[in-house]
Amino acid sequence: MAVVASDPDVVVVGAGPNGLTAAVVLAMAGRRVLVVEAAPTPGGGTRSAELTLPGFVHDVCSAIHPLGLASPALRSLPLADHGLRWVHPDVPLAHVVDGEAPAILHRSVEDTADGLGPEDGPVWRALFGSLVDAGTALSDGLLSPLAIPPRHPVALARFGPPGILSASRLGRRFASARGSGLFAGLAAHSILSLRAPATAGYGLMLGMLAHRVGWPMAEGGSQRIADALVSLLAAHGGSVECGREVRSLAELPSTATVLLDLTPRQVIAIAGDRLPDRYRGRLARFRYGPGVHKVDWALDGPVPWTDPAVAGAGTVHLGGSLAEVAAGEEDVMQGRHPERPFVLLAQPSRFDPSRAPDGRHTVWAYCHVPAGSTVDMTDRIEDRIEAHAPGFRDRILARHVMGPAAMERYDANYIGGHINGGAGDLRQFVARPTLGLHPWRTPVEGLYLCSSSTPPGPGVHGMCGWHAAHEVLAHAD
Ligand SMILES: Cc1cc2nc3c(=O)[nH]c(=O)nc-3n(C[C@H](O)[C@H](O)[C@H](O)COP(=O)(O)OP(=O)(O)OC[C@H]3O[C@@H](n4cnc5c(N)ncnc54)[C@H](O)[C@@H]3O)c2cc1C
Repeated sequence: MAVVASDPDVVVVGAGPNGLTAAVVLAMAGRRVLVVEAAPTPGGGTRSAELTLPGFVHDVCSAIHPLGLASPALRSLPLADHGLRWVHPDVPLAHVVDGEAPAILHRSVEDTADGLGPEDGPVWRALFGSLVDAGTALSDGLLSPLAIPPRHPVALARFGPPGILSASRLGRRFASARGSGLFAGLAAHSILSLRAPATAGYGLMLGMLAHRVGWPMAEGGSQRIADALVSLLAAHGGSVECGREVRSLAELPSTATVLLDLTPRQVIAIAGDRLPDRYRGRLARFRYGPGVHKVDWALDGPVPWTDPAVAGAGTVHLGGSLAEVAAGEEDVMQGRHPERPFVLLAQPSRFDPSRAPDGRHTVWAYCHVPAGSTVDMTDRIEDRIEAHAPGFRDRILARHVMGPAAMERYDANYIGGHINGGAGDLRQFVARPTLGLHPWRTPVEGLYLCSSSTPPGPGVHGMCGWHAAHEVLAHAD
């Protein structure tokens, strides 16, 4: 695509949100930056395409971006000047439970608590009120690297004690299926057993962000996030070369600083011969996690939800109570395929008409599956939707299905279909991918890591790239 910088002093391998953010920061600091990308288009996990029918724009991977809006990196960049607009749904999330009214996660803590009623409203208020009051300091703290002393210690002190618990344990505070399920669905974004320590932290963070900044989508599709970063990069003299898979560091200019927007297994494949044995061994022990089975639909009308409140939600979780969500996720951890999987669904065209022709709609959904699974979960996902939206299947004009193998073919970072850049359990939260205060550096001079396999981990926030770029700049000073 863009003109290749002829003599780059920085090469970034991988044009995902982290690679592009790193590239932008370094280009803005005056470096000549080239990004090399294997896929035909830039963006990695933040790309969109007409996967089903002409005129239907689907987000191939990420769709909902609280982390993007909260990110200190993306906040600081003039991405609006490069075409990025956030669209907010009426409410961030609806969690549906069989036989009951859906639990609605509103922007306001009070409205959410009121909706959960006297049983669970006070629990929600107690858990989220003080986190939301902690303000930007808390989200900034959570997206910052581990530091001694910690950044934003007061805000983090509010988060730490409940956040370190398992979601199953913290979720016991809720009495109803609606309250516990709403919390469990948030925590299940961790793609871990909900009995694992610190899974409550995922639920608290995502709920807190819904209240603080919302769960928006990018107008026109997630691709616009990547396009804005590429445009900003170009404005600072950088360029992206797509369709070029890097197989060895030897292919890159020997004088350039190199940042790899890749996971440890790929880093070993590309740079293994340069890595000291001990470091390579640590990377080799890095663990991945379950994969995803994703379906995109083109519909000839909106999803016919039984409860109209669900129609106003950008994201819908189909999962039931905490016990049901936890059991389904536990099945996946144990290598099984749940009959009734926990389903994460987004309905962007409800709020962004540019996604589909007039009156038509796009819907995006996935469930977790064992890594490398070849089981087609499409029917089970559609059954879950149909149960709360009878007539859904009749509205399908076309569907596009991606199991773990298709995910990995689409983006080599999704090893076995795992989308979080490596298991985000407590151990790999601290040692991501290796233990230390500068995990973006490698022992090889001029070689850095910048993917979601580094802190602060998965999501479209660009913070891994941001921290890596600042390591490069600090090292040069
Ligand atoms: C189905 C799905 C749903 C998701 N939903 C959300 C969501 O709603 N919100 C959210 O915040 N996050 C979501 N995510 C996660 C998010 O997409 C990732 O956390 C994020 O994209 C990670 O960014 P990254 O830059 O580290 O890596 P990636 O985005 O994976 O980018 C890595 C890039 O490197 C390229 N590459 C790999 N190997 C090579 C090579 N050898 N040579 C050259 N290039 C190479 C790849 O092609 C890719 O472009 C989702 C992911 C998936 C798959």
